[in-house]
Amino acid sequence: MRVNYRHITQGTGVFITIAGILVLGGWLFDIPLLKTAGPGFASMKINSAVCFILSGALLVLYYYQQNNAIRRIFLFFTIIILLIGFTTLTEYIFNYNAGIDELLYPDTESGKEGISYPGRMSAATSFCFSLLAVVFLFLNNTNKTARILSQFALHFITLIAFLAVVGYLYDVPSFYTLSLVNSMAIHTSVLLCLLSVAASFIHPHIGIAGLFTGKGTGNIMARRLFPLMVLLLLILGYLQLLAHLNEWVTIGLGNALFVISFMLVGLFLIWATAGRLNRLDMIREQSEEKSISLEKQLHYTMDNMLEGAQIIGFDWRYKYVNDSFLKHAKYSREELIGYTVMEKYPGIEQTEIYKVYQRCFTKRIPIHLENEFTFPDGSQGWFELSFQPVPEGVFILSVDITERKRAEQNLINANKMLDRRADELQASNKELERFAYVASHDLQEPLRMVSSFLHLLEKRMEDKLDETSREYIDFAVDGSERMKKLIQDLLQYSRVGTEKEAIKEVDCNEVMNAVKADLALSVSEANAKLIIHPLPVIKAVYPQMIQLFQNLVANALKYRSEKQPEIEIGCSNNNDQWEFYVRDNGIGIDPKFFDKIFIIFQRLHSKKDYSGTGIGLSICKKIVEKHGGRIRVESQAGKGSTFFFTISKHI
Ligand code: ADP
Repeated sequence: MRVNYRHITQGTGVFITIAGILVLGGWLFDIPLLKTAGPGFASMKINSAVCFILSGALLVLYYYQQNNAIRRIFLFFTIIILLIGFTTLTEYIFNYNAGIDELLYPDTESGKEGISYPGRMSAATSFCFSLLAVVFLFLNNTNKTARILSQFALHFITLIAFLAVVGYLYDVPSFYTLSLVNSMAIHTSVLLCLLSVAASFIHPHIGIAGLFTGKGTGNIMARRLFPLMVLLLLILGYLQLLAHLNEWVTIGLGNALFVISFMLVGLFLIWATAGRLNRLDMIREQSEEKSISLEKQLHYTMDNMLEGAQIIGFDWRYKYVNDSFLKHAKYSREELIGYTVMEKYPGIEQTEIYKVYQRCFTKRIPIHLENEFTFPDGSQGWFELSFQPVPEGVFILSVDITERKRAEQNLINANKMLDRRADELQASNKELERFAYVASHDLQEPLRMVSSFLHLLEKRMEDKLDETSREYIDFAVDGSERMKKLIQDLLQYSRVGTEKEAIKEVDCNEVMNAVKADLALSVSEANAKLIIHPLPVIKAVYPQMIQLFQNLVANALKYRSEKQPEIEIGCSNNNDQWEFYVRDNGIGIDPKFFDKIFIIFQRLHSKKDYSGTGIGLSICKKIVEKHGGRIRVESQAGKGSTFFFTISKHI
């Protein structure tokens, strides 16, 4: 437990002030017990009581002197004590009456005993208070000698007061009169003892107080032994005195008994104290051993860890380096220890890392950073560094992250290249789309010419053509028709990418109505049943939505099976996107073709079985992707297909 000497001093101060007030009350209200220890004993004089009240207050106030008002009060109280003590002392020395003895109240007690100077405190008491006041003036002095002298003056007061206590105990009046005229009261001497001891705790480590307050083994022993020995000596001495006075034993026997009992009790005390000291020693040794082994473990760990560890002293010299650090540093231990960082890495003063060292040295804060370091041989490396202030200077933990940094750099480069490629690809895609658009647009005209002239030819030569020629012309017409469809589809496909159309609120129910109207003939031809669930209003390009639904429903009709076609269209709300589906009970698709069908010109059937160009689904895919979504199919051959596509809510 930490002893708080300030509290001891202040507590004793309060006690002394209260005691002084009680004695003062004793005088004012004539309570003999408070004034004197008993008939025949000296009384504590009013002036002494006043001095005690003030001195007790001084012990409390001492610690608040940074406040100016309190410092003035402190000085005022000290001067009053000095005046009372010193004036009384001069009264004794020059044998006169200054008139201060009964200034406050007449001395009713001493009068009875016929003492010549009623109300005057004893010479010893006045000396003690004078000295005490002087000590209080110097206690706060910055001069060390003044403080030491003050402390020993306090010890001197303790000695005088203690002599008086012993004098009372063993009935040696010369001890409490100190060869002077009147005597120090018993409670005065006890209070003076307390007062001077408590005051000496203001500077607990100076003088004899230091002997009892220190942390060393000797101090522990002094603290334990001295008070017990004093108490024991007092008791034994008193017993010896009683034995003498009552003539229980002869003087010789009394002395012998005193010596023997003191020896025995002293031995016991020393034995108990020695035991305790030995135990303390043992604990100390154990904790020293523990801390040594801890230190060893720590060193072992540091020496062998993968991270580099170094300690740089305040003089910038290497104090400790572990093996990993040596690998990073490209130096041997002998080449580093004792040398400064600047000697080993010339020019480091101009780098950022130097400032980090400085910050850690001066501000004493931990710093963490990644740093690219150039070695004296010109090579470079990346290190993750942790600077930690330690009593010796700075402790630095380093991890070589060169590889990681390189990988990061490669990744960044690769990403940049990918971005570049993507840009190039986008540009060439745009180019292609433009080409497809222009080509299909321009091809339409000659194709129209081919088919119209074929029709003209057929009409003109109607009678002259034989069966084979007519068949050839039919083939040519059919080919040009298919080519027309192909060109139209291709044009549509390329339009999705090139034409900028406005995104607006699109009611999908309306879209489906339009699709239904467009496909009405095919629906009735196939006797198909359309089940359309309520659809949402979404943000999209209206004509593209029509095209998307139309392609999917048209496919569902086209790829129907023997059964009556049943086509179901619906939508679900998936957080930040809508998911639509178009389900049919048609011929279905083998899962191995799921990816293929969305690629342009890819078909699963021949022209003979099902007409088509293989562009419809790729147009759907393009439209869906333009709307921030994806398209997929779930199906099994012969069991119908469901096309799912999503449309983002935030395009
Ligand atoms: P097209 O219909 O002109 O051949 P699409 O791109 O629309 O071209 O379709 C690609 C292929 O996907 C079709 O040839 C067909 O084999 C298959 N397919 C598309 N829709 C369906 C469907 N609802 N049921 C079964 N197969 C389908």
